Amino acid sequence: MIRNKFTGDEVVFSCEVFPPKRDDDIYEIFQTLDAIEDLKPDYISVTYGAGGSNSKKTAKISSYIQNVCDVEALAHMTAVGMTHDSLKERLAELRKKAVLRILALRGDKPRTMTDEEFEQREFRYASDLIREIREFGGFRIAAACYPEKHPESPDVETDLKFLKEKCDLGVEDLITQMFFDNEKFYRFRERLDQMGISASLHAGIMPITKVNQLGTSVSLSGSSVPTELSNLIAKYAEDPAGMRQAGIEFAVRQVEDLLKHGISGIHIYSMNKADVTNEIYKAIL
Ligand code: FAD
Repeated sequence: MIRNKFTGDEVVFSCEVFPPKRDDDIYEIFQTLDAIEDLKPDYISVTYGAGGSNSKKTAKISSYIQNVCDVEALAHMTAVGMTHDSLKERLAELRKKAVLRILALRGDKPRTMTDEEFEQREFRYASDLIREIREFGGFRIAAACYPEKHPESPDVETDLKFLKEKCDLGVEDLITQMFFDNEKFYRFRERLDQMGISASLHAGIMPITKVNQLGTSVSLSGSSVPTELSNLIAKYAEDPAGMRQAGIEFAVRQVEDLLKHGISGIHIYSMNKADVTNEIYKAIL
């Protein structure tokens, strides 16, 4: 927990890492984790490859976080690519490794999967996965949420209806999709309050430290980009060091505003960069 310097309240502080593509790079992620561990985050989450690729690495890295770094690990898991049998195997493996927190997701269709295979998946939605994890027992379950609605959802109300369904199944933590416009987040939080959704809400903050980051992860997320941020990207197009600094400062301003508005949790999409995570952490204390 970090202390909110504006309100005095305790705030959950967490971050996300992803497994490296190459097996040989696993030691690099361990070094990154050793550097993040010093911040004593409440948890570190580990992504899960689309359709279950890399699932072993997710478990291995989660185990390192839990058992070597002594920080709570939150293992991501997707419905896409999962069968009832493979889910039981994965849960048993995580339990054996003492990794007892899961972010249950639907996932997206991987490039290697046909439309037909995607349509025939055993678990349709994150809620189907959550139901079965609950039945297996012993895990604290988190789910994803979208301040600007999920891209496939026809409207915010429909998306919120399904989010409520996930929460009613026993989700304790909600991690938001990245967002850059806090006003959109505050409206979303109000709607959750009105609907009686009381899960702990962790705001997903993506520091944009490279000009090309917007073109990849951000465009997929459907998150809107305020003019202030797009102006920074235009300004530092030819200046990587300047972009890194400006991106960190933008993220810090965003987090400070969230803290002033009494946020309950901050989740940094660290993109495996311990230095960036460290700088944000120190600046917001
Ligand atoms: P769901 O909650 O199942 O929702 C998906 C869509 O279906 C939404 O439009 C929703 O409104 C709708 N819906 C939900 N339930 C129903 C229902 N019963 N009937 C009809 N419609 C329904 N992807 C990965 O592959 N690996 C990761 O590690 C990963 N980590 C992520 C972490 C975070 C914090 C976030 C926000 C996303 C992450 N993703 C990851 C991406 C995620 O898998 C996609 O956004 C995916 O498209 C939706 O996943 P979900 O769990 O939100 O799906």
